[in-house]
Order: sequence, then C-alpha cells, then structure tokens
Amino acid sequence: MGTMSTPRPRSVKVKAPGKVNVSLRVGPARPDGYHSVASVYLAVSLFEEVTATSTPEPGVTVSLSPDSTLDLDELDIPLDERNLAVRAARLMAEVTERPTGVHLEITKRVPVAGGMGGGSADAAATLLACDALWGSGLSKEELAHLAAELGADVPFALLGGAAVGLGVGDQLSPALATTRLDWVLVPAEYGLSTPRVFAELDRLRAAEGFDAPEPTDVEPGILTALRSGDSGGLRHLLVNDLQRAAVELAPQLRDTLGWADSHGALASIVSGSGPTVALLAVDAAAAQDLVDSFARQGVEALAVHGPVAGAKIVSDTVL
Ligand code: ATP
Repeated sequence: MGTMSTPRPRSVKVKAPGKVNVSLRVGPARPDGYHSVASVYLAVSLFEEVTATSTPEPGVTVSLSPDSTLDLDELDIPLDERNLAVRAARLMAEVTERPTGVHLEITKRVPVAGGMGGGSADAAATLLACDALWGSGLSKEELAHLAAELGADVPFALLGGAAVGLGVGDQLSPALATTRLDWVLVPAEYGLSTPRVFAELDRLRAAEGFDAPEPTDVEPGILTALRSGDSGGLRHLLVNDLQRAAVELAPQLRDTLGWADSHGALASIVSGSGPTVALLAVDAAAAQDLVDSFARQGVEALAVHGPVAGAKIVSDTVL
C-alpha cells in the first residue's frame, strides 16, 4: 500500500502545426475591429513543440528551447503574460481551477510574425499539454472554445488537417482532406504585424471606394481540389485578399512571388498576413528542386507537406 505525499513532477510534450491559408477572403472591418473572413486552412509539416513541466512553485513560466530552428537572438518573442502560450496555460488553470506551477518550454520552428500562426500553434499545444498534465477531462468542444478565446487561429491549430474557417476564422468545418500536397515555404527575414496588414487592406479598399462584401463561404472547387490532392486544379484557386496589403507594406515580396512562378512552382501565395510565401509544388521532388534553386540564390526555403494532424501529445513522462 504505497502512499505518496507530493506528486512526482511530470512533463507533457505536445506538437502543433503551422498553417497556410489556401484561400483567404476578408470582409469589411467590424465594429469590434476584427474582420470576418472565409478561409481555407491547411496544416503543414512544420511543427512547434511545447513541453509543459509541473513545478513546485505556483505560476506559469516560459522559455525557448535551444532546439528551436529559428534564430532566437533575432526574435521578438515576449516571455511574460503577453506570450500566447502563457495566456493559454493561465486560461486552462483558471477554467479547471487547478493550482498551477507549470513551466513551458517552446521549440520555435514556425517563422515568427510570418502569417503561419506560430504563436497560435504554441497556444493550442499548451492547452493540450496542460489538459493532460492536470487531467482536466475537458471535451474537444470545450478545448476548442478556450482556443477561440485565445485567438482566431488557435482552434485550427488544435484541429489540424484542412478546414474552412468562418467568423473571424474560428468557426471551423473540417474539409475531410487527407491527400498530400507539397509546398515550399519561403520565410522572410522580417515580420509583418497582422493588425497592420488588415489595416492596410482597409486603407487600400477605402481609397478605391470598395465596399467589401461579407465573405460567407469558400469556393467549392478548392475543397474538391484539396480532397483529391489535385495540385493542378488548386493552382488556379489559391487566393488571399491580404496579399496586396502585405505586398504594399513589403514590396520585396513581389520578387519572391515572381521568382517562384518562373522557377517551376505551380502557384505562389502570401500565407495569411505574410510575409512567408507558400509555393505549391507538383510533388515532393519538385518541392526539393525549388528549395535547391532558392538555396543557389542564397535564400533558405523549406519543403513541407499538408494536411497534417493538429495538436498531438508526443510524450508524457513522470520525472
Ligand atoms: P497571427 O496571425 O497569429 O498574428 P503570425 O503567425 O503572423 O500570427 P506569430 O508568430 O504567432 O505571428 O506572432 C505574432 C506576434 O505575437 C509576435 O511578433 C510576438 O510579439 C507575439 N507572440 C506572443 N506569443 C508568441 C509566441 N508564443 N510565439 C511567437 N510570437 C508570440
């Protein structure tokens, strides 16, 4: 009959994917400042990892792992309550009424402020890690609800795969796509602030006297092409209303987009609010060829594929 006084510390590691928006239609600004969107999200094989470890002292702390593939010295990632992962852990603690004491170590791989939802992936991974650590027993729906409180892109990082997002992007319908598509990501050396890109789109539209309609659905052809992995069909359907605003703020994006199109990419698109550019490739070999051509130009690009699963527990260890 073993009795235990203090519970042994435990560590749960979760990975969660970055995303590209295969289609992103943006409506007018709402009174609350957000924009309604109709988006097709695709989770790609570039993963953030969050390891949540219980600590004896209460509170939530965060650090960045040296395993990160991004240059941490160059990054502007807050390590206080502004960090989306910290906010996720605090929200979980509050809702489940667990005494905290948790340290989060984040392995950053998704470009920061790159339009790929890296911070959102950290938040989704943290929700799942704390859920396991604290045995909170929340349902998928309850987790998704907490995710939406943290940010528009967080529910998708939990869900993964491919999905249509309405509302601010948080009302998700899975697209039931499983066929692999190959992409090349070209991260930029700078970030673009998401609110700034939306504001630029509003400015451009106002100058043109254009009243954007409420986006209520996505082009059905996109879902058909995604489900069948038809990159040839998809190439003509990639669309991002934010792209011209991102290009206005970062004109050098034009070069990357143009260069990709003339070097064998089926199509190229700014991901979300940018500045990461996503190129659609015909297959994995073509994606690698593109990465090699970029490397010859001194540009580091990454071959990825999607859809991939959403936030998932990698390990759960009693220390
Ligand atoms: P979004 O569309 O969610 O704004 P993004 O992918 O363009 O996303 P993120 O990498 O998620 O951008 O981060 C945007 C900003 O949020 C960063 O510049 C940083 O200051 C802040 N931030 C807060 N938490 C995190 C986190 N865990 N990782 C990275 N950045 C974070």
